[in-house]
This record gives sequence, structure tokens and C-alpha cells, in this order.
Amino acid sequence: REAALTVTVLFAAKPESWADYAAPLRAAFAEEGLDAALVTEAAPETVDYIVYAPSSGLEDFHPFTRLKAVLNLWAGVEDVVGNPTLTVPLARMVDDAGLTQGMVEWVTGHVLRHHLGMDRHILGQDGVWRRGAPPLATERRVTILGLGALGAACGQALARLGFPVTGWSRSPKRIEGIDARSGADGLAAALARADILVLLLPLTTETENLVDAARLAELPEGAVLINPGRGALIDDTALLAALDAGHLAHATLDVFRTEPLPPEHPFWAHPKVTVTPHIASETRPASAARVIAANIRRAEAGAPLHHLVDRARGY
Ligand code: NDP
Repeated sequence: REAALTVTVLFAAKPESWADYAAPLRAAFAEEGLDAALVTEAAPETVDYIVYAPSSGLEDFHPFTRLKAVLNLWAGVEDVVGNPTLTVPLARMVDDAGLTQGMVEWVTGHVLRHHLGMDRHILGQDGVWRRGAPPLATERRVTILGLGALGAACGQALARLGFPVTGWSRSPKRIEGIDARSGADGLAAALARADILVLLLPLTTETENLVDAARLAELPEGAVLINPGRGALIDDTALLAALDAGHLAHATLDVFRTEPLPPEHPFWAHPKVTVTPHIASETRPASAARVIAANIRRAEAGAPLHHLVDRARGY
């Protein structure tokens, strides 16, 4: 690589994650030929880029007068996208090798759990020889709401296993293996064929409470809901009612309106709800550091950032 560049990169995330990210980021900057000072504290007016997680508590970007961009460590940006003090470009995390791969594994695992009826044998080992093989994947329709980095990858992985996959996104798309729909009609069609429904939408003013009583009623009888997207995509009261009425067979939820999910929340004890503690996928330092370094390198070369967040859309 040609001449090294001198930039100051502020790492603003939870203090305990510094130990995980410092070495991978430094290595990735070196690989990109970036002569970058990576710091956890700096005079704001000296900072060029912020590697950011909302859990850092940093909310006022005003003092960062030289700031060129903010690189979010997470895919979800709902806690920062509306920040009026942030006026420079914001990139979200898209990392095929880490974050996406983790989500594909989690979604595939939980779809297969319900598809194969694994609980029946794992939890019900009682000496009774129950015959009856599960149907093949080709007979179980999966719908994914959200066909972005994560939704498209999960949909394609499921399609490769043989599931008929319908997807839904805001803009029309062509994705191999997925019957991709958009618009209000597309949503109705996608819900009507969702034996298993997976939510991988971002949380925005448009998607909040999208899965309400009316939309749940459009799902086939006995459908399963899997939500690794965001808790507020679902009307919790409507979900509990649909489970109690027997319309939905099960909900596997990884994300919640309040996290950690309070111990007294009815989801914990509900026999038809599986709670996982926001572990569907997480940013992996080694591969994420390479994504961040490559993006800073682009910005320094005057190119637009990859994975740029559209403030108006909210994701
Ligand atoms: P992307 O921005 O790549 O994809 C979002 C998708 O949702 C796009 O297909 C987009 O449509 C679609 N969408 C957004 N708004 C609407 C709308 N109003 N109507 C229809 N479709 C809409 O995001 P990612 O795939 O990277 O991530 C998705 C979400 O997953 C994150 O926002 C985060 O909340 C969650 N997540 C959860 C994790 C966990 O551990 N539980 C880990 C990582 C992420 P279009 O393509 O037309 O723009």
C-alpha cells in the first residue's frame, strides 16, 4: 500500500470490550495501510472517526468538530440514528464472516428445532415409543420479514436446506432461492404462507408493532414465530393472546422491549415461549475490525462508506 495516513480513531463502546477489539483493530488498520491512532480517550476536536456502540453512553457528538464518520459496531442503529448531534455519515455493521454467519446458524438451528419437533423427544423421554417422522423441509414454509444482510443470508441458507422461503422487504428484490415480496400485498402473502415466521427487520417508526393482533391472525393455524430482530417489532400482548388461543404454536424470542427481560415478565414462564438472552448473533472482533478498517480506508480515499445508514429511513 502507498503512503500511510494519520487518523485518530476513538473507540467508544463498553469499556470491557476494549480488550477484545484493541488488537484486532490495530492489526486491521495496519493491513489497510492506515497509520491510525486508536484511542479510548481523546480531545474531541482531534478525533477523525468513532468506532461506536450506543452502550458507550456517548450521546453528544457536537464537540467532535473534525469527525468524518461514525462506524457502528452493531447492525441495529435505532439508538443512534435519530441523534440530532450526529451529522456525519453513520455506517452500521455488516460482517458476513462473523455477525451474519452467527445469525444464519442461530436462525437455522431454531427453525430446525421447530420443524423437526425436537422438543418432543428431547423433553418428553418417557418410555413411550412414538412413531411418526417429521415432514421434509419442502413441506414447511418459512417466511422472513426483512431481506437485508441478515434476512437474505438466513433465507438462502434455509432455501438450500429445502424450505420454501418467502421474504419481505421495503424495496422489491431478486434473491436467488427466495420468493421475495414487498409492499402491503407482499406482506399479506408472506404472512399467509408462514408456517415459521422469522423477523429480521430493523426497528423503525414503520416497523414498530408491525406484528400486531391483525398480522398474527393472518398466520396459518399452528405457526411458529422466531424473533431475532428487535423486541418492539411485536405487540407482546397480542402475541401472548395468540399463543394462549392456540393460534400460534410457539414463539422463540431473542430480543425484547426491555433487556434484560425482567424476571417477572410472562414470557419467561410461558410454556409456548422460548427466551434466549439476545445472543442470536454478535459482532466478532476479528472480522468486524477488518470491515471497519476497510471502511475507514474508503472514507480516507474519498469514497462513500459501505453500509451507510439512511437517516430518513431509520436504518
Ligand atoms: P439491513 O438494514 O441489512 O436489512 C433490513 C431489511 O429490513 C431490509 O431488507 C429492509 O428493506 C427491510 N425493511 C426495513 N424497513 C422495512 C419496512 N418498513 N417494511 C419492509 N421491510 C423493511 O439489516 P440487517 O439485516 O443487517 O439487520 C436486521 C436487524 O437484525 C438489525 O436491525 C437488528 O435489529 C437485528 N439484529 C439482531 C441481532 C441479535 O443478536 N438478535 C444481531 C444483529 C442484528 P430494504 O431491503 O428494502 O431496505
